[in-house]
Amino acid sequence: MLITRHIEEPCPKCRVSGKYGNVNVVSNILNRGCNNCGEWMRYPLPDIRKKVIYLDQFFLSHAFRDQEQAFIDAANRIKDMASRQLVVCPYSSVHTDETHLWRHEQQENLYKFIKQTARGYKFNEAYEIKQVQVHRAFDAFRSESDIVQTLEERDAFREDIHRWDDYFWIDIRPFLGDLEAMRQGKTAAIERLVDLFPEWRNLTTTFEEDVNMEARGYGKSLLDQYLQTVVNVSTGSLISYLEAPIDTMYVESLLHCDSSTMEIDDRLKRIGAFFSSPYFTSIPNVRISCGLFAVLRKMVKNGAYTNPANARRKLAGLFYDSECISVFRPYSDAIFIDRAMNQWCEDPEAKLLEPHETKMFSVASWDEFHNYLDLVEENYTDDIREALNWVYPGVYP
Ligand SMILES: [Zn+2]
Repeated sequence: MLITRHIEEPCPKCRVSGKYGNVNVVSNILNRGCNNCGEWMRYPLPDIRKKVIYLDQFFLSHAFRDQEQAFIDAANRIKDMASRQLVVCPYSSVHTDETHLWRHEQQENLYKFIKQTARGYKFNEAYEIKQVQVHRAFDAFRSESDIVQTLEERDAFREDIHRWDDYFWIDIRPFLGDLEAMRQGKTAAIERLVDLFPEWRNLTTTFEEDVNMEARGYGKSLLDQYLQTVVNVSTGSLISYLEAPIDTMYVESLLHCDSSTMEIDDRLKRIGAFFSSPYFTSIPNVRISCGLFAVLRKMVKNGAYTNPANARRKLAGLFYDSECISVFRPYSDAIFIDRAMNQWCEDPEAKLLEPHETKMFSVASWDEFHNYLDLVEENYTDDIREALNWVYPGVYP
């Protein structure tokens, strides 16, 4: 067997030293073994409940650059707390996309750093989480049951993140789309958004109305994209099916419901009705992202972003930031995010939409961030400290 950590004491069975030690950690069991006599021992480790901290690309790329002391200190502290099983900072599809869209020779090293900081833990892909949420809302819509959605941790993670880390983690190859198409799509989306601003400036709608307009618009775009894909496929352009935005999959998968008992036209109509119902607006990621866009509408109405070129530059990262906040934040205990986005989330009307208790931090709140980590330190109990010394002998005296 492969001894990962040799320990000083001799093997309790054959009394030989130097061949006995820790092998691995599986499902909160520390396995120890001896290469002399073949003895195998299992040590149960105490239950742990880690705090999930989402570190955005801005934080991680600054920590990686290793130049600004505030980022270096925070990153080192988080790394230490993660290895002591107090926190976990899973990476997401947003990290994967943003890193690979970054044209830089350090790209792969940054990605490696991000995965190391996460200790291999990963959120499910954004589209998987959105798909689960949309189906749950659609089920409620069909059965006319409770509109309020619960958030289940298992929707966001494939594995148990509250287990003791093993010595090794498996590096998963990233799923990457067409990077050039993603770059162009991102630029085009921001351009289309900024082009809407003159129209927005004349709106006299309330915040609530703006949230609903955003949600209706999103639902309509999902249906339109899907229908366009169907047209392209029927005219023989299969490649367009392959290149269809991942969002069209939501319509596709909703269409499967009751496919043996309902005609396709009725199913499509029903999806249309669902998209314009409160069930759709109450989907967690839809509600939060539409809330953020309603904050943007409010700022535009109040005279912000009048220069289109500046607006495009300032809002370049908006769609990724919105995805972090609307998809991954609700499954996190804390999030470290861009200062401007943090301010958007602090908008009193946007806050009402987001009753989750995720703590939010940015470069404007380093002290609060460290105070939060101080509180998490209280979870470092004597039994965890003791177990940590079994798993990493001599490292945490
Ligand atoms: Zn032995």
